[in-house]
Amino acid sequence: MTLEEKAGQLNLVRGEGTLTGPASRAGSDSAVRVGRIGLFYGVRSLAATRHLQRIAVNETRLHIPLLFADDAIHGYRTIFPVPLAEAASWDPSAAEASARITAIEVANDGIQWTYAPMVDIARDPRWGRIVEGSGEDPYLGSAFAAARVRGFQGANPRVIATAKHFVAYGAAEGGRDYNTADVSDSTLRDVYLPPFKAAVDAGAMSVMAAFDALDGVPMHANRRLITGVLRDEWHWGGVVVSDYTGIMELMRHGVAGSPAEAAERAINAGVDADMVSEIYVNELPGLVRSGRVKVATIDAAVRRVLRAKYELGLFQNPYRYGDSTAPDTLYRREARRIARESIVLLENRNHTLPLDKKLKTIAVIGPLASDSLSALGPWAAIGNPSQAVSVLAGIQRAVSSDTRVITGNDASAAAQADAVVLVVGETSNMSGEASSRAFLDLPGDQEALAEAVIAAGKPVAVVLLNGRPLSVGWLHEHAPAMIDAWFLGSEMGNAVADVLFGDYNPGGKLPVTFPRTVGQVPIYYDHLPTGRPPDPTEHYTSKYIDEPWTPLYPFGYGLSYTTFGYDAMTVRIDNDSLRVSTVVTNTGDREGDEVVQCYTHTLVAHVSRPVRVLQGFLRVRLASGDHRTVTFAIPRSRLGVDEPTTVDVYVGPNSVEGSPIHATVRP
Ligand code: BGC
Repeated sequence: MTLEEKAGQLNLVRGEGTLTGPASRAGSDSAVRVGRIGLFYGVRSLAATRHLQRIAVNETRLHIPLLFADDAIHGYRTIFPVPLAEAASWDPSAAEASARITAIEVANDGIQWTYAPMVDIARDPRWGRIVEGSGEDPYLGSAFAAARVRGFQGANPRVIATAKHFVAYGAAEGGRDYNTADVSDSTLRDVYLPPFKAAVDAGAMSVMAAFDALDGVPMHANRRLITGVLRDEWHWGGVVVSDYTGIMELMRHGVAGSPAEAAERAINAGVDADMVSEIYVNELPGLVRSGRVKVATIDAAVRRVLRAKYELGLFQNPYRYGDSTAPDTLYRREARRIARESIVLLENRNHTLPLDKKLKTIAVIGPLASDSLSALGPWAAIGNPSQAVSVLAGIQRAVSSDTRVITGNDASAAAQADAVVLVVGETSNMSGEASSRAFLDLPGDQEALAEAVIAAGKPVAVVLLNGRPLSVGWLHEHAPAMIDAWFLGSEMGNAVADVLFGDYNPGGKLPVTFPRTVGQVPIYYDHLPTGRPPDPTEHYTSKYIDEPWTPLYPFGYGLSYTTFGYDAMTVRIDNDSLRVSTVVTNTGDREGDEVVQCYTHTLVAHVSRPVRVLQGFLRVRLASGDHRTVTFAIPRSRLGVDEPTTVDVYVGPNSVEGSPIHATVRP
């Protein structure tokens, strides 16, 4: 290979959708033909991927096939719940299933690589990209990271998974997207790195570098973490892809004075593929010739890219991905199942929910009720809003033919109805990339609308759409019932109706803490102890003078239409693990799911340990009156014990309930 051909293999460009425009088509055709492009993303039709692949295979000197990537974050054609919502299912097998279907759908269009899963831990709800990940907890986040990687890569068609964004992108200061992060080494190790390790251990073939800088070193130039951790420490051999113009941005970060310097820093840090900057393809050959970059460095990067193509079988058959006979119908059954598993019941005063399907009149009120675009959520790939079921449409389909569904955007409809469904929250474009918020309240005048609707005195079920925790303190105090419905994808309305009318008993739990106000941020459950824990009777303790220190809804929280009891908890110490078991009983009168959660607190160690750490969870379904013994085995290495000490073990329905059993553990 010439140096130019090598640099071409590292050049990843954006295809303009289906590449139908003559200009974009001619431009990329000739660039492929001369070997300037090895990788594409965003080419979203089989005809277009086939067209480019034919040029690469037939008309270039080396006949090397192209790889096509895409942002299939929570579905491609069928849209599943946004990742944060899916994490609220606490069911990694659901994420594995949605990733599998996503892999099938992208592969049908000739795409072999997805820019997912996003595994950034996020503890700042102002950051709009919190919606793309699995929330605040590294253990839950690792379970979902691994499940999604298995879903994308674990069967045929095998689609390359990308763990992104490496690393600590979610720690952006002030929650402002693309901002710098200041993270201690211990927090990096305990919080931000584990989901990447889990993804890599599950076989993720790609990792994407992040836009943030740590210790003043932008991640696209961060050799200590990219090469040092991923390659040297974890012995991982996959492809590191830059983020969109991430290499070019090294100049704005102020660590490179020219495109050539940016290329030099990025390739030497260990970034293999250059997304969109076109700096590698222009600068790397010259950098090698002038001796500033070793040819061995380029060779290693090219080898990793070629190996990925080889492992997918593209050298044997460049057209093995792509199916022109694939139906364009949606996987609706799976989408609905996963969507309803992701719903969290936040409030249910006086058994307001479930609603009776035979009510005479139901009012569906609120600006988001018929918003099928928002149902899909951000990053909806080729998801078509006209094929998505809005909350209103789902309710209309679910009720009996005698029920009148009336709509409105003010409180007047409430007065005429037997029950009200009030749909409020964020539109989907309020979260996602570059959608940071400085406020976490309901947007616009929605709270006033809620006050007026609830004042009508009817049974009201609030359906909250959101890509982040919202500070809905007023609703928490006054809503008769409220569900967190996030952005649930193609089947949103049907899933919401299943829950509202009791065809499905909600069992999701929050994967992230909901603050009372933005002023409490950052607030997360596994914080370290302080020397002055909050005490309302003691002034000089760690709290606020104008707001309680506790969250609005804690991590792990969620209700059900039934109730559960916990008994007979035992803790046993084995050679290398702590075995915790408990009996969970459905003490109510209907079937339901409970997410059993196990936490520990190591009381004394050389560095202080979080007040609680999630160590295990299991979503179980129990019929009324049934019980089940649930057992967790916690590896001793996860306890952070460096001298004999007491470990408090909690099992319960969320991160705040339950009383501990003490166990004495030796290192
Ligand atoms: C985002 C990535 C995404 C890429 C390509 C970037 O702006 O940070 O997550 O994969 O664009 O769309």
